[in-house]
Amino acid sequence: MLTTPEKLVFVLLAAVALAFAFTGFRRVARVIARGERGHALPRFDHLPRRAGSALLRTATQVTVFPDRPWVSLFHAFVFYGFVFYLLVNVVDAAHGLLPRAWLAALDFGWLGDLFRLAADLFGASVLVGVAWLLARRFVRRDPRLSPGGPRVMLHEAVAAGGVQRDSLIVGVFILLHVGFRLVGEGFALAHEGHADGWQPVAGLLAAAIGPGEGRLVGWHVGWWGALGLVLAFLPYFPRSKHLHLFTAPVNLALDRRTPAGAPVPYGVLEPVDLEDEDAERFGVSHLEHLRLPQLLDPYACIQCHRCSEVCPATQTGKALSPSALEINKRYELVANATALAAGEPSPRPLLEFAIAPEAVWACTTCGACMDACPVGCEPMIDIVDLRRHQVMTEGDFPAELQTAFRGLERNGNPWGLAAHLRMDWAAGLDAAVLTVADNPDFEVLFWVGCAGSYDPAAQATTRALARLLERAGVNYAVLGKGERCTGDPARRAGNEYLYFQLASDNVVRLDEALAGGALDGARRKKVVTACPHCFHTLAAEYPQLGGDYEVVHHTDFLAMLVREGRLPAASATGARVTFHDPCYTGRHHGIVAAPRALVAAAGATLREMPRHGRRSFCCGGGGAQFWKEEEAGDARVADVRYAEAAATGAQVVVTGCPFCRSMLGSATAAQDEGAVPVRDVALLLAEGLDRA
Ligand code: SF4
Ligand code: SF4
Repeated sequence: MLTTPEKLVFVLLAAVALAFAFTGFRRVARVIARGERGHALPRFDHLPRRAGSALLRTATQVTVFPDRPWVSLFHAFVFYGFVFYLLVNVVDAAHGLLPRAWLAALDFGWLGDLFRLAADLFGASVLVGVAWLLARRFVRRDPRLSPGGPRVMLHEAVAAGGVQRDSLIVGVFILLHVGFRLVGEGFALAHEGHADGWQPVAGLLAAAIGPGEGRLVGWHVGWWGALGLVLAFLPYFPRSKHLHLFTAPVNLALDRRTPAGAPVPYGVLEPVDLEDEDAERFGVSHLEHLRLPQLLDPYACIQCHRCSEVCPATQTGKALSPSALEINKRYELVANATALAAGEPSPRPLLEFAIAPEAVWACTTCGACMDACPVGCEPMIDIVDLRRHQVMTEGDFPAELQTAFRGLERNGNPWGLAAHLRMDWAAGLDAAVLTVADNPDFEVLFWVGCAGSYDPAAQATTRALARLLERAGVNYAVLGKGERCTGDPARRAGNEYLYFQLASDNVVRLDEALAGGALDGARRKKVVTACPHCFHTLAAEYPQLGGDYEVVHHTDFLAMLVREGRLPAASATGARVTFHDPCYTGRHHGIVAAPRALVAAAGATLREMPRHGRRSFCCGGGGAQFWKEEEAGDARVADVRYAEAAATGAQVVVTGCPFCRSMLGSATAAQDEGAVPVRDVALLLAEGLDRA
């Protein structure tokens, strides 16, 4: 129990600290509220379910545990302990401030004993957890706590050690706050002269302190140390990374993948309103142009660098680091919080403090950063928005992309090849390939894609898939010379105009083609494609333009044909293969079982790479990278991935994407004599069945 002057001092300090904290939190809320609200993607639907899901995921820490088990465990020690300490602090404050008679009347029986036990054990777990985390950062200097290599742009406050300082302040605060409380409890038990077993840790301290004079002073010091530190920390709280305690669950609630709403794949981009005549810019150049969830991201970011650890650009020494992007945003927001909260514009563009211009062009849109982030940050979306601004407002983008854009504009494919060559792949096939005009009653529209039409290696896959469809008796047709690029390369490169032109034309074409002919009953015509980029765009992004189709990736479709017995399975050959999961099927859409079933159906034996399935490592070709030179770095992404594939001892590297095949096939080591060949799984299956 405090003396009356002590109580007055505490109440006064608490009022000042809370006033400062309130101002700080309100400023953060106003800054986040500056974010643009126009969302085509569901973010604010099913709010109660979203909130429930976010609380559940936060409480169970399921988004933290999939990686780094030791770090996650010690973080959990701190998380659960600190959350419980919110209650402990209230109880301790009441204990210090309430009159003795009131406290005597408050007897919670066994519940009170349980509370003392939990506070004691959680206190110890917080101390162990935070000591381990501090040692990891400052003693062991875990290299995974780095945003990336020397090419990565860092905000000047970050370069000056801001992250380390903030981590030290937060870590030492927690250590001292909980430490003072435990020691104070030890003195209290020593003063009372007995330990009843409900506070084992404080009991040990009490035994070490022993009975004697001045024990009550020790309790007072412990009490003031614990709660005084809270008051000292409160004004800093809204500026510190500790803020993620509140912002991370909110970010998870607005997460595009939340199970509460209809989950949106990582790769789906927000549409741009190209018809807005008042628009002075497209895309994003300054902080205040970001959408609300993108402004919330840096406040939720726990600066763990898990995103950069899986980013193919960071891992090959490029200037891009998704964690640095979020952290840089955070430090600029904090530095300009007062002005931003007052509605003033931010002082400089993102390209001057958050991300280097060359880094913007190094992203493969693989989605690995979004998949790895435990608090739902989406750095990839920022990057595409920056590209949109560079392309559509500034006209400043890598020169090689201009060639692809011109080819798309003039000939409907990024190679710029003539439309009449689109059906060349079908030459020499035993069965004629019919177009929708020849066969309007088709069941399956085979969307060949530009690579499948023009790239000689991909043409072999197209032919193999056509033979498999034929063999399974699938009634299919193609658009033939009427097919155009889906617009994926234009959209990932930030050229939303061009994407819109191609995509809206395609929607008209597809609507017409799929509406024609007759099908039994209420069956819908399917669209099948061997390109994950076409698959993603047709299935997940055309609905934004009114195109609603049942689109199936060829691995899923072929696996279904095998399951239904329409394609036989080949007998085992003992051939060793490894499967490289394309990002736009494996990670963005979770298609990981079907291609493996096809490997088995082809009679081959699978040898998994360390990074596979949803956690696959990119080939380096997505996000329009295929159409430009790779940015400067220490290695080529394709070289790293090919080496990982070859290290499995596989005789063939198999994939399910023409661009992955081409990128891995172009790896430096793949050019060596006797190198492991790279092929599409459809070709593997067709050859397996031919042998059978
Ligand atoms: S999408 Fe992939 S390449 Fe782009 S920042 Fe994220 S992890 Fe890196
Ligand atoms: S964006 Fe997510 S994964 Fe990356 S550092 Fe921040 S919290 Fe970690």
